[in-house]
Amino acid sequence: MNWFKDLWKTTYLKLHDPWIAFLLFLVGLVMVGAGILAFQWEDSLFFLFMFPIFLAAIAYPRRAYLGMGIALMATALVVTVYQSSHYLIAMRNNLFATAFELMVGELLFRRTNRQRLLEKELRASQEEYRSLIAQIPLGLYRTTVEGKILLTNPALVSMFGFTNSDEMTKDRLAESFYVDPEMRQQYLEQIKQSKGQLVCMDLELQRKNGESLWVRDTCRAKLDEKGEIISIDGTMEDVTEQKRIAAMLEQERSLLRAIIDNIPDRIYAKDLGGRKTLANIADARATGASTVQQIIGKTDFELFPAEMASRYWNDDQAVMRSGHALINRLEPSTDAEREERWILTTKVPLYDTQGNITGLIGVGRDITERRQVEESLQKANQKLTSWVDELEQRNRETRLLNEMGEMLQSCQHADDAYDVIGQFAKLLFPEQRGALYVINNSRNLLEMAARWGNVKGEAALDEQIFGRDDCWALRRGRTHIVADPHDRLRCRHLNKKDRPNPLDDFESYPYFCVPMMAQGETLGILHLKLDPNDTVQAWEGLVLSTTERVGLALANLKLRESLHSQAIRDPLTGLFNRRYMEETLDREMRRAIRYQRPLGIVMLDIDHFKMFNDTFSYAAGDALLRELGMFLKKNLRGDDVTCRYGGEEFILILPESSLEDTSRRAEQLREGCKHLDVSHRGQSLGTVSISLGVAAYPQHGNNSEEVLRAVDTALHSAKSEGRDRVIIAKRA
Ligand code: GH3
Ligand code: MG
Ligand code: MG
Repeated sequence: MNWFKDLWKTTYLKLHDPWIAFLLFLVGLVMVGAGILAFQWEDSLFFLFMFPIFLAAIAYPRRAYLGMGIALMATALVVTVYQSSHYLIAMRNNLFATAFELMVGELLFRRTNRQRLLEKELRASQEEYRSLIAQIPLGLYRTTVEGKILLTNPALVSMFGFTNSDEMTKDRLAESFYVDPEMRQQYLEQIKQSKGQLVCMDLELQRKNGESLWVRDTCRAKLDEKGEIISIDGTMEDVTEQKRIAAMLEQERSLLRAIIDNIPDRIYAKDLGGRKTLANIADARATGASTVQQIIGKTDFELFPAEMASRYWNDDQAVMRSGHALINRLEPSTDAEREERWILTTKVPLYDTQGNITGLIGVGRDITERRQVEESLQKANQKLTSWVDELEQRNRETRLLNEMGEMLQSCQHADDAYDVIGQFAKLLFPEQRGALYVINNSRNLLEMAARWGNVKGEAALDEQIFGRDDCWALRRGRTHIVADPHDRLRCRHLNKKDRPNPLDDFESYPYFCVPMMAQGETLGILHLKLDPNDTVQAWEGLVLSTTERVGLALANLKLRESLHSQAIRDPLTGLFNRRYMEETLDREMRRAIRYQRPLGIVMLDIDHFKMFNDTFSYAAGDALLRELGMFLKKNLRGDDVTCRYGGEEFILILPESSLEDTSRRAEQLREGCKHLDVSHRGQSLGTVSISLGVAAYPQHGNNSEEVLRAVDTALHSAKSEGRDRVIIAKRA
């Protein structure tokens, strides 16, 4: 049945009139039925004729019915020629009638059909047009010059927030949509002058709810023959969002501009040719320009000194060629006044959308102040460190000075003290050379007592002994400092001899000579040579305090020595006193016993001394005593102890001397004494004789008392036997 459906749909419905189509269809059916009947009864020739015609009618239903009618008519004619039965006649008549009907009907239908088709097409195209207008996202309108809205499309209606066209157009004129009526007038004026040309303008309108609506209006005035405007047709595009974005962009742009102009860093962009395409105020000011516009389009060669510009150029080219950013590079620059500034520069390449480098953007931060602060901080830090170092050094020096003081206090003899001073001076002045000079007993010469910091071979160059006048410190009685190597007041004791290396410039050493004083008496000087690059200020304090310590210690030592000698020596003759003699005798006695060595003792007394005193004077007696003391000292060995026992009596202790040796020595003394030529106040006092007693360990006892008693007895014997003689004690 499908073929039938198709036939019905495609053929008959095209006739547009279903009833006529149905009628024709029925006629067709009857015809077909009659044809079939005719075939069965009559000549098969008919069948041959009829069949293709029916086939044609069925198989080509879209062919025109006129053709079909002609085919039927032709069949009928053929049937007429071959008429052989009354069925066929009837058939023929029918065929004619049908063919005629078909042809007429078709001709008729064709006419009406064309019109209908035209109408339909028009309707369809109108429909399409309408749907186009309805669907177009652009707002369309038509108004009169007076503002009456004649036409709208849905896009326009919804753009303004209305639900339908009526709502929008009823009781509203175009100008009611304008925020500013002035704008409407302006636009209208433009339209009127356009003479039918397109006019475009961005308008601020308002929606139904009063919201602002920006549209891009494009319209054209429709004119009549006289040039009067019939209507205005136009489109409206909602550009509110665009406007908003543009405004936002503008705002952002101005914000960005405000930022880069107010930032203290120099910001700029350059093209491949090194020309400034962007700059901020800080960058402009750095070149001395007052506005950004003055430097835009210029190269660094036009803005900076050539040397600096070419350095910038090289950096820029390196960044743009390699594509590697230059980050935080510190470089010298200048400001508008051409003053030196330190800039921390960052340069980053700029790319276009294809990834090609088109230039660079740079930021320069002026860190001159920061650097200055950092530098001064560093200096302060260094100062602090050097203070700490200095403090540590001072501590060390103080400790050494204290230690030296303690050591000096425990020294019994000046020689020990000099050793200590020499050792500590090496620690206190490790890099310097110096010496301690002490004044000799004659008080006119200075002898080197200690030295330190010797350079090889230098000893020969230094004066070991010099006169008081050779040192300015001693001449003036105060510290002599030579800070300037060319100072003329260089001490003679150094003159041309204070160089470690004879080839050195001898005058290149600053030095100190500090006198050591105690109770107004000069003890000596401390001399210190500095390196040519040392400053005297750095060493003055230590030199002075060392000298003070040393002087004090030496003075103490001297005092102690003098006290000691006062305690053990007889002031008139300088010989040891009785107390010392007793101590010594005890000690020597014990030693002699321990080591089994002999010990000799002599006691001597001047003969008739009372008379001598009486004859000359007591003072002359004193002079004789002093002279005798010196004579004894001179004629005894270093180890022998010579003592004034009291009055004009003397005791001699001779360690390791046998009785024989002792008596021999006593005899020599007695003899020698006779040759003493003592004078007092220019007057010769003549000669004296002495009596001597001799005793010895082990012959005369095991302790000092026994030996002393023995020797005393021997002296008495010498006196009583006539004086001027030596008597050996009797054995116990
Ligand atoms: P003798 O030969 O017996 O020893 O006779 P002498 O005169 O030396 O006798 P004596 O020992 O009695 O006299 C000692 C005298 O020495 C008594 C005193 O005036 C004197 N004398 C003692 N000490 C000193 C002194 O320090 N200086 C002086 N000038 N005389 C002294
Ligand atoms: Mg006497
Ligand atoms: Mg006497």
